[in-house]
Amino acid sequence: MTILELNCIDKKYSQAENYAVKNISFEVKKGEILALVGESGSGKTTLLRLISGLEHPDAGYISLSGNKIVEGKKSVPPNKRKVGMVFQDYALFPHLTILENVKFGLKESGVDPEKTAKATLNMVGLSENFNKYPHQLSGGQQQRVALARAIAPNPSILLLDEPFSNLDAMLKDQVREEIRQIIKETGVTAIFVTHDTRDALSTADRIAILHKGYLQQLDTPRKLYEHPVNAYVGNFFGRRNEILATATEDGFYTSFGFIADERSKKFHGKVRIIFRPEQGKIKKSPRQALNGRILKTAYYGDHQIIKLSDDEGKSISIRTNPYKVFPANSRIFFSIRDFELEEAF
Ligand code: ADP
Ligand code: MG
Repeated sequence: MTILELNCIDKKYSQAENYAVKNISFEVKKGEILALVGESGSGKTTLLRLISGLEHPDAGYISLSGNKIVEGKKSVPPNKRKVGMVFQDYALFPHLTILENVKFGLKESGVDPEKTAKATLNMVGLSENFNKYPHQLSGGQQQRVALARAIAPNPSILLLDEPFSNLDAMLKDQVREEIRQIIKETGVTAIFVTHDTRDALSTADRIAILHKGYLQQLDTPRKLYEHPVNAYVGNFFGRRNEILATATEDGFYTSFGFIADERSKKFHGKVRIIFRPEQGKIKKSPRQALNGRILKTAYYGDHQIIKLSDDEGKSISIRTNPYKVFPANSRIFFSIRDFELEEAF
């Protein structure tokens, strides 16, 4: 069931030369967590502001729970939209206790503010902190107060702008998992903005990627990562290797050796073989393997990246387990699994 629909949304700020977002259409299903990713300035915050009613689009419409909340000049005011917001800096009221912070959003909701606020704080695991002030809590706890305040009025959709960016790396992994669980338990539909592709891949049901205001692709994390619709999307989620090859009847000739592959029949002449470092696999034997010379290795503790070169100086990277030490300049064998192919002209 669709809860949110954006249809051909355009927005250009007065004074601005280009559209902040252009021709954006997508739907979000009930209970879904959608991540919105893209470089700084790609239009992520603008989209959230359009949905929440803080900005008005130049064209298109937005529906929430089957009702048009914006179309043409008509617009439902922000406080009547049933949209919950969690901001990057949490925006808690410093002079109010956390219970008062959560009750604040419930004034016009028709529910018992005290009871609902306490129940929501319990749910986010803050039952012992009702009377504390925001500054007495850790970053992760403040984050959960902000979440409780946004969820308590039972919004149709929850919007979170860079919710993890103020947390340090160790805390972030934990908070990300907690927030995902809370969102899933309440069944609320959520859109969260992030510039961190790991956050998006591990937390979202689907990811929408924006580039200069245009929606590039909206898909599951796996689809986006493994089958990007264009090079921009592919490279956004981490580096990819490209090898130029010549297709023949039974495989591909490359400067690293020959790859037997049925798919070559569908190609003529030059193709590009595209793969991520983790799709490369070091092999012990030269049988059916490619080979390259080790330029250098970079050690990361939980993995290492080996940079290999062909005889002409073209280099690629392979990600492998950290255990074996590979001396520079030695020759190693490798294979590539499930690579993508593109016609090269
Ligand atoms: P993101 O959140 O992805 O970083 P934004 O939605 O904030 O991107 O911005 C999209 C584009 O709109 C950028 O080019 C930005 O400079 C511009 N922009 C954002 N807010 C305003 C504003 N209030 N007035 C004019 N231009 C703006
Ligand atoms: Mg932003």
